[in-house]
Amino acid sequence: MQKTIIRNAHVISPGVDVENAVIVIEGRKIRYVGRKRVAAKAGDTVIDVGGQYVMPGFIDVHTHGALTYDFCDADPKAVFKLAEAKLAEGVTTVLPTTLTVSHAELVKAAKNAKAYAEAGMPYAKVPAIHLEGPFINVRCCGAQNPKYVRKPSIKEVKEIAKVYPVKLITYAVETEGGDKFAKECLRIGVVPSCGHTGAKFADLRRAYRNGLRHMTHFCNQMTPLHHREIGMVGAGFLVEDLNTEVICDKIHLCPDMLNLVFTRRSLAHVQMITDSLRCSHCKDGYAFEMGGLKVLLKNGEARLVEGGNLAGSTLWMGMGLKNVHDVTGIPLKDLVRTTAWNQAIELGWGRSLGKVEKGFTADLVVINPRSWKPSAVIVDGVQKI
Ligand SMILES: [Zn+2]
Repeated sequence: MQKTIIRNAHVISPGVDVENAVIVIEGRKIRYVGRKRVAAKAGDTVIDVGGQYVMPGFIDVHTHGALTYDFCDADPKAVFKLAEAKLAEGVTTVLPTTLTVSHAELVKAAKNAKAYAEAGMPYAKVPAIHLEGPFINVRCCGAQNPKYVRKPSIKEVKEIAKVYPVKLITYAVETEGGDKFAKECLRIGVVPSCGHTGAKFADLRRAYRNGLRHMTHFCNQMTPLHHREIGMVGAGFLVEDLNTEVICDKIHLCPDMLNLVFTRRSLAHVQMITDSLRCSHCKDGYAFEMGGLKVLLKNGEARLVEGGNLAGSTLWMGMGLKNVHDVTGIPLKDLVRTTAWNQAIELGWGRSLGKVEKGFTADLVVINPRSWKPSAVIVDGVQKI
């Protein structure tokens, strides 16, 4: 079988930091990672990455759009554009994320994801989607439109999942019927995630007993830590195995908070996300609507025109990794589990995705250590960038 041989790789994988390494790919799989001399045969492809980082392709479980397109647009092109932009960031698997919109719009978004899958997923892989809302706390909407907030309904989730798999759903644990809803989600293989929530710690404890293990964009749109009611932020620090999504743009969480999260929480339960919007990969000054609310991109920050709430980010995954590495000084071989492997474990792909290791799927990103941008991206053994 013809091989792809990557030479001069600085391999960064969970627990691994090896320079001058060789990676051998056969078909969709990684067959060898190490410092052996591997001779190329006729027909083999050789890529010399000149000492750049080679990491597991990023997995972004929370992103709404890019290149002026949003996943909830009725336009089928939106998923293609999102997946194309994500691939350019080095993301090899992505869960397009919906907004709090009508049921009809959610079904349409799922149909568009299905169309992308049927087209052979030409860019990043989209194995499933993330529903962010609509079952959230109306007082913690952030940039979500309160008009479409409704009570949890497993029937609604099932209808959407019938069209295209749903892997994650953000809901507020304190909403009426929230506990039953989370249990039913787990029964049908959907990971419930607490977010856009005004819950008290007691609410979280109850939901935890019912199986909740995920928090949507930790610290953003949730109850803060107070010394008499530790809220959801306190819960994130106290309950070690809550898988917390973190937006690492240094805006949604200030650098000191990023430092606190990454140095005080178990890295096995932190997941970097971008929560990027349609304005990511766009220029400053770009204005748009989100769930009926006006948003303006200014100085790289996407904020609601009215009220100034942050609406999401323009972050690239690699830049998030650089930000946390700079702020905390944590070695990349430890941080890198938060950009892919943790996500893979939780979503059931931990044996095939998230590591640069023999037997794993060859989803790889080559990162330029000066710009922190990808110079090559390989998906299922095929070089796409
Ligand atoms: Zn979001």
